[in-house]
Amino acid sequence: ASWFGHVEPAAKDPILGVTEAFLADPSPDKVNVGVGAYREDNGRPVVLDCVREAERRIAGSMNMEYLPMGGSMEMIEQSLKLAYGEDSDFIKDKRIAAVQALSGTGACRLFADFQKRFLPDTKIYIPTPTWANHHNIWRDARNAPDGSFFLLHACAHNPTGVDPSEEQWREISHEFKVKKHFLFFDMAYQGFASGDPERDAKAIRIFLDDGHQIGCAQSYAKNMGLYGQRAGCLSILCDNEMQAVAVKSQLQQLARPMYSNPPLHGALIVSTILSDPELKSIWLQEVKCMADRIIGIRKALKENLERLASPLSWEHITNQIGMLCYSGMTPEQVDRLANEFHIYMTCNGRISMAGVTTRNVAYLANAIHEVTK
Ligand code: PLP
Repeated sequence: ASWFGHVEPAAKDPILGVTEAFLADPSPDKVNVGVGAYREDNGRPVVLDCVREAERRIAGSMNMEYLPMGGSMEMIEQSLKLAYGEDSDFIKDKRIAAVQALSGTGACRLFADFQKRFLPDTKIYIPTPTWANHHNIWRDARNAPDGSFFLLHACAHNPTGVDPSEEQWREISHEFKVKKHFLFFDMAYQGFASGDPERDAKAIRIFLDDGHQIGCAQSYAKNMGLYGQRAGCLSILCDNEMQAVAVKSQLQQLARPMYSNPPLHGALIVSTILSDPELKSIWLQEVKCMADRIIGIRKALKENLERLASPLSWEHITNQIGMLCYSGMTPEQVDRLANEFHIYMTCNGRISMAGVTTRNVAYLANAIHEVTK
C-alpha cells in the first residue's frame, strides 16, 4: 500500500492560478492584472532606492546569527511607531505585545493561532468579500454576538478598494464600543492607499483614541516592495505591561514549533530604513510615487473607457483606492478577457492596477469595453 496514494491535488489558489495561466499564454499582447504586486510603468517589478541603499549599508556589516524568537527588536519598535504613531503612549507604556511575523500572512496566522489557543470559544468575523486567504486562515461567518472578534482592512480594502470614510470609522468604533467587540486590523497597504502612511493609519488611530484594545498585522510586502522577504509585524495592545509581556511570550511560544525564529534580512532592511531619517524620507517619497502612479493609471483607464463611449459608469475606478480595482465584471466577462484578449485577472473581476501601464491601458480599456457592452 502507498503512504500517499490518497492525497488529492489541492485546489488551485485563486490568485496564484491566474499567474500560471498568464505565464502559459504565448501571446505577445498578454496582460497580467491578477497578482497584487506593484509594477513600474514599464511593467517591471521595482526595488525601491531606499531598499537598495539599506542593503548597501547592511552588506558586510551584518552577521548571520539567528534573530530572537520574537524577531528583531529594532524592526518591531519601528513598526509600532508606524502603526500606532511616533509618540504613542501605548509604546512608551510598553503595553503592546509585538513580534516580527512572516509578512502580513504570517501575522494574521499567528494571531489566529493565539486566538485558538487562548480564546478557543471565540470566532472571527471577516468582511465579504475579502482577501481570499483570510478564509483559509480563519473559518467562520455568522451574526456576531456581543464581544466578538472582527477583522477589518485598515486601508485599501482587498479586493474592493473601498474604505470607510473617517466619519464611518468613528461610527464603527462607536458600535464596537457598544458591542464590546475586538478589532483586528489587517494593514497590508499602509502608505499605498493615499501615498501617506500616517493618513492610511487613521482608522487605527481612531480606535486607539476611543480606548479600544486592538490587534494589528503589518506587512512590508507592498509599501516597501519587500514581497519575498516576508517582513511583517503582529502586535496586540494589552491592558498593561505585565499582560503584554505574557502575551508576547505566548506568541513566541506559538512561533517556536512553526519556524523557530523569523528571517533576518528583510527585518534589517526595514529597521535600517525606518530608523534613519534620510532613508525614511526617501521611502516616504517612493511610497507616494507608487501610490500616485496607481491613482494616475486609474484615471487613465476610466478616461479610456469613457472615450470608447461605454454606456456604463466607471466612476468607481477612480473612487476606489489602493492597488486593486473591483471592476464589477462577471466571471463570464473575465473568462472572455482571458480567452479573447489574453488579459488575466481573478474571476471576481478584480483588476490589479499595478499591472496597468501607459502602454497597455488603451488595450485593456478596449477589451473591457468589448466584453461589457
Ligand atoms: N492581507 C491582505 C488584505 C492582503 O491583500 C495581503 C496581500 O495581498 C496580505 C494580507 C498579506 O500579504 P503578505 O503576506 O505578502 O504580507
